[in-house]
Amino acid sequence: MAILGLGRKQRVLKCRDAGMDCEAMFKGKTDEDVLRQAAEHAEKAHGMKPNAEMGAKLRKLVKNG
Ligand SMILES: [Zn+2]
Repeated sequence: MAILGLGRKQRVLKCRDAGMDCEAMFKGKTDEDVLRQAAEHAEKAHGMKPNAEMGAKLRKLVKNG
């Protein structure tokens, strides 16, 4: 780990990766942190009701940033 000397690890999710035409991007230290932001955004910006199915789908889209 930390071969490049960068100790910071970050998880990233892009709204676009979830199939939305949207530039929003969520960053956090953990998947849960990122998914919580994404769920809030989905509801506020896209009028979507976050549910378990959406959560499972989004969880697979979280990448190392
Ligand atoms: Zn969005």
